[in-house]
Amino acid sequence: MNYDKKTIRDIDVSGKKILLRCDFNVPHDKKTGVIHDDTRIVSTLPTIRYLLEHNAAVILLSHLGRPHGQWKQEMSLFSARDHLEKLLGIPVPMTTDVLGPDTKAKCAALQPGQVVLVENLRFRIEEEKNDPEFAKELASLADIFVFDAFGCAHRAHASTAGVADYLPSVAGLLVEKELAFMGKALDEPQRPLVAILGGAKVSDKIGVINSLLQKADTIIIGGGMSYTFQVAQGGTIGTSLLDADHIDYARDMIAKAKAQGVKLLLPTDNVVTQDFAADAPSRVVPSREIPDGWMGMDIGPETAACFTEAIQGAGTVIWNGPMGVFEFPAFAAGTNAIAQAMSTLENAVTIVGGGDSVSAVEKTGFASKISHISTGGGASLEFLEGLELPGIVCLEDR
Ligand code: AMP
Repeated sequence: MNYDKKTIRDIDVSGKKILLRCDFNVPHDKKTGVIHDDTRIVSTLPTIRYLLEHNAAVILLSHLGRPHGQWKQEMSLFSARDHLEKLLGIPVPMTTDVLGPDTKAKCAALQPGQVVLVENLRFRIEEEKNDPEFAKELASLADIFVFDAFGCAHRAHASTAGVADYLPSVAGLLVEKELAFMGKALDEPQRPLVAILGGAKVSDKIGVINSLLQKADTIIIGGGMSYTFQVAQGGTIGTSLLDADHIDYARDMIAKAKAQGVKLLLPTDNVVTQDFAADAPSRVVPSREIPDGWMGMDIGPETAACFTEAIQGAGTVIWNGPMGVFEFPAFAAGTNAIAQAMSTLENAVTIVGGGDSVSAVEKTGFASKISHISTGGGASLEFLEGLELPGIVCLEDR
């Protein structure tokens, strides 16, 4: 996939109507609409502001939740709109339909320097189906398509890819930043490149491990997925998470890493408990020798020290997935150690990719010391996997 895409900086947007796909799919209270985390809204502000300052008229598009083509009031974008109004300090009118008469009237009347938000696109079934007629009608509202919803880049929907068939299409500033950091980290990283993978399931990260074996110098595996690797090495893991369908795969990855000269680091000790509970009594045992009835909840101190040492020598670090059940403070030490090690690197590029790892790094308080925190969970995983992302591929090459 070519990462060198045209952006809003490369084209003249003055006096033009822009269809700007954002990701306002923010965690919120379904009853009160209160937004729990506004990161996705805040991260699109530079693009919205740039367009308004350069005399464009901006039609904002987003989805929220999974209404599957039904009008569901609790998935209306109104709280995102209210929040955006506060952040931008200008009125953000919203449409009362999706591509109906109200959308068409409001978009037709829109003037440069003004903004309007279209109601949740997924209220129409054609959005997720990437219906060409729907995409064409959407495109007819504007002159240019700007894609800034990196978190949705792996979806081929009407508003993330379909409209690009009908309009000149470029990246927004958030997508530009994501491509710059993640693309460079994969294509021409400052070496050594250390990739850290954790989280619950091996199956989620299969493609990523395979792809990183071609690119990384060191791969660190912790978290729930590491126990399958311990079984692949002939160990016992008690009641720890096991992805039984992927034991052979894990064995294969260990062999491949060896053959290709990639350092693959696995835990050597684990914090284990008898219950999956925040206050369960714990002890530290050697990995691959976890007793019956005990489950791994975190990497142990020896492993944390070893992983820290590997991170300290890195030129680039990419991290996706916690090292343990970090939601329980007693089992967050391993995850914290990774965040801390990354935060102390002076001349390295550090990237945290999406989802739970982002909440983990924010919990540790080291987020401001990380070079780039990706806004895409699934999208950044697919990016690391080397897959073509429909929301990116459809943009014009520079
Ligand atoms: P993922 O969505 O695959 O990145 O997984 C994140 C989840 O993995 C978090 O909710 C963690 O609590 C969980 N996790 C990490 N390590 C373990 C473990 N050893 N046992 C159970 N769950 C874990």
